[in-house]
Amino acid sequence: MNNFKNNTIDHTPYWHADTGFQEHSIDTELSSLPDALEIIIVGSGFTGLSAALTLARAGKKVAVLDSGKIGSGASSRNGGLLGPSFHKLGMQGLTKKYGQDTANAVLKESLAGFDWLVDFIGRENIGCDLQHCGRFRGALTPEHYTNMAKQAESLAKVLDYPVTLISKSEQHLEVGTDKYCGGVVYNKDASLHPAKLVQGLIEKLMAEGVSLIANAKVGNISADGQGFKVKVGDREIATDEVLIATNGYTGNVTPNLKKRIIPIRSSMIATQSISQELMHSVSPKLHTHGGTDRLVLYYRPSPDGTRLLFGGRALSYADKPNEYIKFLHDSMLDIFPQLQDSKIDYAWSGLVAYSFDHVPHLGKMDGMYYAMGYCGSGVARANYLGHKIAMKMLGNAGETIFEQFEFSGKPFYNGNPWFMPAVIRWHSVADKFGW
Ligand SMILES: Cc1cc2nc3c(=O)[nH]c(=O)nc-3n(C[C@H](O)[C@H](O)[C@H](O)COP(=O)(O)OP(=O)(O)OC[C@H]3O[C@@H](n4cnc5c(N)ncnc54)[C@H](O)[C@@H]3O)c2cc1C
Repeated sequence: MNNFKNNTIDHTPYWHADTGFQEHSIDTELSSLPDALEIIIVGSGFTGLSAALTLARAGKKVAVLDSGKIGSGASSRNGGLLGPSFHKLGMQGLTKKYGQDTANAVLKESLAGFDWLVDFIGRENIGCDLQHCGRFRGALTPEHYTNMAKQAESLAKVLDYPVTLISKSEQHLEVGTDKYCGGVVYNKDASLHPAKLVQGLIEKLMAEGVSLIANAKVGNISADGQGFKVKVGDREIATDEVLIATNGYTGNVTPNLKKRIIPIRSSMIATQSISQELMHSVSPKLHTHGGTDRLVLYYRPSPDGTRLLFGGRALSYADKPNEYIKFLHDSMLDIFPQLQDSKIDYAWSGLVAYSFDHVPHLGKMDGMYYAMGYCGSGVARANYLGHKIAMKMLGNAGETIFEQFEFSGKPFYNGNPWFMPAVIRWHSVADKFGW
């Protein structure tokens, strides 16, 4: 039985409530900006903030504009699961599609991006509850388990990325459910507090004197021969370069990027504080978790180990809390019936961006730089590729395998993901029957 009471749920991301994120006033007034700048970054998530830091430290005059609060897009509302985010096709699929060398390069750079972020957090001394907790991925069917074993074997040939295969009889040591037919532990995977990472980046940027302008929705960008004119409300600001860092929120200001991105809503719930014993019965080693389901369910303990944070794709593109809270709560109880009496304290959602080839993309379009399309796994990718695109803007190499893939759309697709609700409902049925 589903016993949550929606009217007692706080619709603030747990991460925001935990840090007082909404009350922080770190942004500068739009009126304080000069009429001309060297670089304007549109979007203040990990991509924009990471790029801004690299650019500012190279001596560039940078402003970051966001239509909402600084960092309030997906970057401060995600699950905080941190891993290399290997390509959806896996080793075999990548090799078949792109050849062995490209497949190896994608996997190696995915791991390099993860290592880069872990190193960056340590070097910059950003307190964001980084925990090297490992991730358990459960197989929904015996076939999925066999495939996982093959993937683990081929990964080990290319990467120094320790993976432990866990049989069904041993899985209770990793996760407190019989739902899976075994799985793997990615030992190197980690978790962090995303809003604390955003705040850490903001502090670094403020120390560099970067202007962070909230509630500044960019309405138009036009090329003027020498650079660009960026329109925000009544202001028009001239800039030499523009970086578009809008990912799942990419809109009509950049129609050519919008039609290459499929925005998908991802949603999360957080339980009330639960006892250590109950948490242990769910996640004995406090791993992060996911499964082979198509709806991409993921979950983890909060950094203090007191709440379970549980997420997955929302069924609709529009923000419909009643719909996704019920779906997530039902899914959570299906895996962990022992949480039956645990109330839901928080529920929230945000937008992620898929590309048609499931590869993140960065480069230059219509004269403007961009980095986006992290396919729902952007904590490491957005920070790393934000840094990489900034290196490109500085004229340094910033080479990456991800710039070699063509950023394509589809005929007749203009950025309106009208087909996604049907696809997601199909995924939900397929998961139910283990297809
Ligand atoms: C619920 C949820 C859970 C997730 N869980 C994980 C996870 O556990 N692990 C993981 O790796 N990834 C996860 N992700 C994905 C990850 O959060 C994103 O891929 C990443 O944060 C993208 O960063 P970004 O900076 O590119 O975009 P965002 O952080 O989304 O920032 C884009 C910004 O652009 C702004 N913007 C858009 N248009 C304009 C405009 N015209 N003018 C001004 N500003 C504009 C928006 O307001 C927004 O703030 C999750 C995402 C969500 C939503």
